[in-house]
Amino acid sequence: MQTIAHWVDGKGFAGTSAASAPVTNPATGVVTGQVALANVADVRTAIDSATAAFPAWRDASLARRTQVLFRFRELLNERKEALARLITAEHGKVLSDALGEVTRGLEIVEFACGIPHLIKGGYTENASTKVDIFSIRQPLGPVAVISPFNFPAMVPMWFFPVAIAAGNTVVLKPSEKDPSSALWMAELWHEAGLPTGVFNVVQGDKVAVDELLDNPGIKAVSFVGSTPIAKYVYQRGTANGKRVQALGGAKNHMLVLPDADLDLAADAAVNAGFGSAGERCMAISVVLAVGTVGDELVTKIAERAATIKTGDGTRNTDMGPLVTREHRDRVATYIDAGESAGATVVLDGRGVEADGEVNGFWLGPTILDHVGTEMSVYTDEIFGPVLSVVRVDTYDDGLALINSNPYGNGTAIFTNDGGAARRFHNEVEVGMVGINVPIPVPMAYYSFGGWKNSLFGDSHAHGTDGVHFFTRGKAVTSRWLDPSHGGLELGFPQNK
Ligand code: NAD
Repeated sequence: MQTIAHWVDGKGFAGTSAASAPVTNPATGVVTGQVALANVADVRTAIDSATAAFPAWRDASLARRTQVLFRFRELLNERKEALARLITAEHGKVLSDALGEVTRGLEIVEFACGIPHLIKGGYTENASTKVDIFSIRQPLGPVAVISPFNFPAMVPMWFFPVAIAAGNTVVLKPSEKDPSSALWMAELWHEAGLPTGVFNVVQGDKVAVDELLDNPGIKAVSFVGSTPIAKYVYQRGTANGKRVQALGGAKNHMLVLPDADLDLAADAAVNAGFGSAGERCMAISVVLAVGTVGDELVTKIAERAATIKTGDGTRNTDMGPLVTREHRDRVATYIDAGESAGATVVLDGRGVEADGEVNGFWLGPTILDHVGTEMSVYTDEIFGPVLSVVRVDTYDDGLALINSNPYGNGTAIFTNDGGAARRFHNEVEVGMVGINVPIPVPMAYYSFGGWKNSLFGDSHAHGTDGVHFFTRGKAVTSRWLDPSHGGLELGFPQNK
């Protein structure tokens, strides 16, 4: 059985910890490897490597840095199918979806290739007589990226291409559930010519995370995961004086107005509700059916969802298994609870016949109608293939539900009324909004991030927010010619 360990100083590092955890193929239930769980000493070794590499990488020319980034982009593009297969084997999502994940990550690498333009400063001549001012942005130092299981390649790539391009060094702590993609990407960086120590990977759990949050060598932390852990990471990291962005969980609503194209809305609800088995932070988990639209919309959604082939992601299926047996059981418990509380089970994924091994962690697409807002299936983030339909009377009722939800990651409106759409994007308290688009994940050159309990900190990922997060500004005031300043003058300098 393979051991999946760390990457430090440009090579594999076994670490000194005896602790490990099993890694499972969710489509077969078979344990395929053991991931090392770093102890504090192992994390410090990785931080030392990132610290040692920082001065030279900080001073590497932008031309040199972008050459490495372009090479990484080329290698990733050439070999993206291999990374997609690795994701499917440990996460379970179907191959086409895994390839989509890699492609969205690749777009951030392409964005980061433009770093010379992105970190250009400003210059003001003669701010005072013969006094010039200029501003520059400089890297922070070693930074940590802590990522969740559901996007083992894309989420780390929301951060590390920009961090590295800006001159920082990185310690990545991936999810212990699917740890191999991080090592694969580390090897690719090495092949692309990234100097040793600029990109490191430590595998681990809370022990590793806590050391990254406490160690003064780490200057900033980019975290993505569930809301309770995001809040904890934000509080502990900032208490230690670090810059932290911590992206949390979600409960994304899709508002369908009576004038919407219901076929389009039904397609969108199914794609966004059941893609990646609902294990996406931008998945739609609640459809708000406004007015009389409910019955027809639910029929159309159910017809489509019933055609979804659940099974092993390598077998040309539509939807893979859930990530672990425990998670599958937990999601099924929410369906039980919704049914007991009075929701109508329109499509039942419990007992699905999957195209895969009998021990895979299967749960088919499930639709619950007439869901009440007090039911746990509505109040909690479920993170599985369960779509709840809540009936509301008006646009205002739907908007009020979305705005009172503690999460604010993504949302969508389906309508043919431009005025209603305009009102919605203006009034809704959510960070990413779709208009007839169910999963409005921003492109690399915009920033990704939610509001409220979906993000702690004030910087979203990538785009200009990402560039700002991984750099700090400096303003320089200089005088070269005619350095006379009139002799001694103890008053506060005034511009002349
Ligand atoms: P998780 O919070 O369990 O784990 C995320 C990371 O935190 C992992 O690296 C894990 O090892 C670490 N961790 C877990 N428990 C910890 C603890 N007690 N102390 C310190 N570190 C700990 O999340 P997950 O189950 O891997 O991922 C799913 C969650 O991530 C969902 O809630 C989903 O909405 C969220 N997510 C959010 C976004 C976003 O952009 N907002 C994107 C992807 C996923």
